[in-house]
Amino acid sequence: MRFYLLPILALLFCSFSFAVDSEEENDNVDSLLKVLQDQDATLDLQSRYELNLKIAEGYGHLGTEEYDKSIKHFLICYNIAKELNDLTKKSESLFNLGYISQRQNNFQDALVYFNDVVEHTKNESGNEYLARAYTQLSSLHQSIGDYKSAFENQMQALSIYNISNDTLGKINAHYNIGNIFYYQGQYEKALESYNTSKSLADDLGNARANYACLAALGSVYEKLENYGKSIEFNLASLRLAEKLQYKTGIAFAKGNLATNYKKQGKMNRAEKAMKESIAMKMEVGNKVAVIGSKIDLSNLYLKWEKPELALLSLEEALAMAIEVDAKGRQPEIYQSLAAVYDQINDPVNALLYTRKYIGLKDSLISEKTVEEMGKSKQRYEVREQEHEIAILKKTNEILNAKEEIRQQQIYIFAIAFIAFLMFLWWYKSKLNYQNKVNKLLGEKNTLLADKNEEIFIKNKQLENSNEDLQQFAYVASHDLKEPLRMINSYTTLLKRRYNDLFDESGQEFMFYVIDAVKRMETLLDDLLDFSRAGTQPPPENFISLEDIMVIVEANLRHRLETLNATLVIKNENLPKVKAHRTQLIQLLQNLVSNGVKFKGERDPQVTIDCVLENNQYVMSIADNGIGISKENLEKVFEMFRRLHTRDEYEGTGIGLATCKRIVTTWGGDIWVESEVDKGSTFFFSFPVSVASMEQVNA
Ligand code: ADP
Repeated sequence: MRFYLLPILALLFCSFSFAVDSEEENDNVDSLLKVLQDQDATLDLQSRYELNLKIAEGYGHLGTEEYDKSIKHFLICYNIAKELNDLTKKSESLFNLGYISQRQNNFQDALVYFNDVVEHTKNESGNEYLARAYTQLSSLHQSIGDYKSAFENQMQALSIYNISNDTLGKINAHYNIGNIFYYQGQYEKALESYNTSKSLADDLGNARANYACLAALGSVYEKLENYGKSIEFNLASLRLAEKLQYKTGIAFAKGNLATNYKKQGKMNRAEKAMKESIAMKMEVGNKVAVIGSKIDLSNLYLKWEKPELALLSLEEALAMAIEVDAKGRQPEIYQSLAAVYDQINDPVNALLYTRKYIGLKDSLISEKTVEEMGKSKQRYEVREQEHEIAILKKTNEILNAKEEIRQQQIYIFAIAFIAFLMFLWWYKSKLNYQNKVNKLLGEKNTLLADKNEEIFIKNKQLENSNEDLQQFAYVASHDLKEPLRMINSYTTLLKRRYNDLFDESGQEFMFYVIDAVKRMETLLDDLLDFSRAGTQPPPENFISLEDIMVIVEANLRHRLETLNATLVIKNENLPKVKAHRTQLIQLLQNLVSNGVKFKGERDPQVTIDCVLENNQYVMSIADNGIGISKENLEKVFEMFRRLHTRDEYEGTGIGLATCKRIVTTWGGDIWVESEVDKGSTFFFSFPVSVASMEQVNA
């Protein structure tokens, strides 16, 4: 019962599966052998290796009888691997050689092969066969009772699995460590290791490993005398093995349950289960396990008080242990034999086997061994700690790197956030500014609209009042002319017929009346001119200013001659303009006659000129008269504005106002430059839109 655990886990790590149909496998191997025979000479090393490997595995599957052939082909593989100098292939073939040797119960050869694997691969990190070889070595050392080496090798394997984080390897290693403690009678520690193994197996969902752990836990609870738990685990392991159709597993589970039955005193059931277990173990060729079961069976018989059967079973177990060199099992066999001889009252043999038992046990489980195991465990723990420190360091480095990245991310985020805020601020100010501008523009527009409205109303009012004024001026001047004509006719008649009847004062009064009537006539004529000026828009036809000047000169000739005045037309090439003929005559005649009228000491001289400047034609009428003071330059264009008394210079003060009105109708301007006593120059302009130097039809 004690030794049943080892082969189960060996199966977990076998490099090939044994669960195949043997007939089919036979055919398969035969055909592969034929290929090898036919083509061996032509095959390259690589193909020869592969072919021999398949054949060796095939023989391995066929069972114990064919193991020698399997060994032969694995040896060919090894030699090819050496030729190829391929370390992986070398370790693969050596491992399989060890494995088959172990299956043959040839522990010495197996030890050599597995040690070879270790030798070849121990400096090769990551070689999958190194940990597996350590595991098999541990298993072998256990079989031969060298627990110290078994423990050391298993610890080596565990370290490798921890580094490579190989869960299946870890399950196996913890399980095997549990076994080693178990064999040492350290059941609490064994329980701990089995539990570790089981929880890893649960995580991984590996049914075969789970089975092994269940069985082991059943056994260890049995040792701890917790029979309830023991049966619970053993039944669970049996059910799982049956479900998996796993013969070896069923065999061990039955053996374990047999022990449980024995403890409960159910001897028949126990014997039956034990025998079934032994038969199945034999069937799968596991002699080491058979030895354990036979010891258990003998214990059962001893308890059942059937010492002969117990003796028989133990003798078979001992023979088998010697055959396979299973030293580890021998002390217990000796102990049991001593107990049986004691029961059948054979003190000599009882003493003999007791001595054998003590001698062998001491050599196997010495204090030194336990101490060495402790040291080995310490070394393992130091290695584990170093490994953990290395992992921690790496984790720290990763954490630091992550922290750095996080910091950078924070910086980037902060910068992006600030940039975003700045953008928002800028956008908001822009928006505010825009709003302000819009508001201001709105206000200005409203103001402008108000002003426009105001101007429009003012214009309308002005237009209306202008029209009214014009109407008034026209009506007044026109309608007043009729009674004035009557007064003029009758005063002229009075003077002609009755002048002699008046005394001197009467005649003087008559003179004033006639003079006033004349002035009033002039005033009414001027008013009529003013009211007519600017009433019609400029015509489309051009009129020659040169022609106009000829008319003006002719109209004023008498006056010019009377006053001994000269009229000079400086620029003979006067432009053609779009304006009313009568208004042009009126304008120029007014200005020329003023130039003559407001004469000083000198004979009057009036000069007419015309220039093109700033996109307009500017005509000038310059005189050498009395001039106008600076403060009156603007005022002279106002209606009825006169700078002198009637006694000094006759006039109505309407002439220049009429001129201004005429000029503004075509969009021109009128102004005066003057110096007192030196003369005045009156200017007026035509925009080019209404004036041209081209030859046009008048
Ligand atoms: P009127 O000639 O009938 O007085 P105007 O309207 O023609 O009226 O002229 C207004 C006033 O401008 C004149 O009374 C005069 O004082 C002044 N004035 C006009 N033309 C000249 C000029 N060429 N030289 C000096 N003063 C002038």
